[in-house]
Amino acid sequence: MTYSVSLSKLLENIGATEGSKLSVDSNGKTYIGRLMPHHSFSGGDILILKLSSGYNIGIRIYADSEVKVLEPPAPVPKKEAPLEKKKGLPNIVLIGTGGTIASNADNRTGAVRPALSVSDLIEAVPEIRESANISARPFLSLFSENMNVEHWQELAEATAEEINNGADAVMILHGTDTMGYTAAALSFMLGDVPKPVVLVGAQRSPDRPSSDAPSNLIAATRFCAKGGAAGVFVVMHDTLEDDSFAVHIGTRVRKMHTSRRDAFKSINAAPIAFLDEEGKIKFTKKKRDPTTEKAVAKTKMERSVILLQFYPGMDPSLFEGIMMRSKGTVIVGTGLGHVSEEMIPLIKKACDNGSVVVVTSQCLGGMTSLHVYNTGRDMLSAGAISVKDMLPETAYVKLMWALANSKDAEEAKKLMMTPLAEEMGDRRTADV
Ligand code: ASP
Repeated sequence: MTYSVSLSKLLENIGATEGSKLSVDSNGKTYIGRLMPHHSFSGGDILILKLSSGYNIGIRIYADSEVKVLEPPAPVPKKEAPLEKKKGLPNIVLIGTGGTIASNADNRTGAVRPALSVSDLIEAVPEIRESANISARPFLSLFSENMNVEHWQELAEATAEEINNGADAVMILHGTDTMGYTAAALSFMLGDVPKPVVLVGAQRSPDRPSSDAPSNLIAATRFCAKGGAAGVFVVMHDTLEDDSFAVHIGTRVRKMHTSRRDAFKSINAAPIAFLDEEGKIKFTKKKRDPTTEKAVAKTKMERSVILLQFYPGMDPSLFEGIMMRSKGTVIVGTGLGHVSEEMIPLIKKACDNGSVVVVTSQCLGGMTSLHVYNTGRDMLSAGAISVKDMLPETAYVKLMWALANSKDAEEAKKLMMTPLAEEMGDRRTADV
């Protein structure tokens, strides 16, 4: 569906095309913005403008409304031929998976959809070529709520392949919603990866003036190029401004806000480094130096693992079937990791059945402990284990990995209790 015949005519008469800057006087109000294509969710006489805030607005056009063209559409940047590799600069491979960082407005709905190709994004942010030779590996184009275990496995394999083919670093464009899960999955699958592997995303799409996509991308590139740190990291805004960026350890990071640019926080660990707007990097702790070793992707995962949030009034009978069918359950308990007395017999039944039950905390901050209260002791006797200060989603990913990489439940439990990718500390080593 396009604009109504009368509105299309009006736009044609004044020479307005998609992207033209318009001033619209309608119903006693004036609006200024760029003309967007019509979408199928509103009437044909509703004109869609993208305001300078980045938001779209629909304005009903009446017979007496006045529409004027203020500026023609901004010129579309010319596609550059791939640049020659510059000597002396590190080679970074950018793997695209989609997400807001690689999105723009859908012509049909006006909603944000993953659409930009990785090369488009490289061309849109030419600054990233100043510190590295960047090449693109298109991989997926989806929002991260649609990522699944197979995607993590393929991504780990692609990352290892690029490193083994000579990449000095791999940067992964990813949706922010489940970036922490993917970062944790890559951390376990890639183990002591010999190069930097950096996930980066954006809270606001690149077609919005307030987008954090370019600044996050520049910071991530600088960290890959100059950080000299091997491991899996997430680089995102540290503050609301473009003046500080945090480098989070892949197993310790969570999206803590739906929309703020500084949504990503390290939990129970400080970010490993910060970058300022000039790209100066300050490490807060010891880093692992990159090596020339080969990257190895251990991607086996046990799929029969569930992540269960305990809540007051939880009815064990609703969860019996699923817990008994699962090889592993991560419970996100209250406080130190507790569940109600009613749930404990089910934990015992699942453990006696050979399942691994792992306890984390809804508090996120601080240690779990099943030794303090009777509830916790009863959970321990039932067979549950707690995993110190590990994030619930990290425990979920790790349990899938641990079960697939051990001969039995006992070995998997031991792996769960052993720090493998800085995913857990203890009271002595906790730095926040
Ligand atoms: N839903 C989007 C995603 O996770 C949000 C984003 O990218 O920021 O892919």
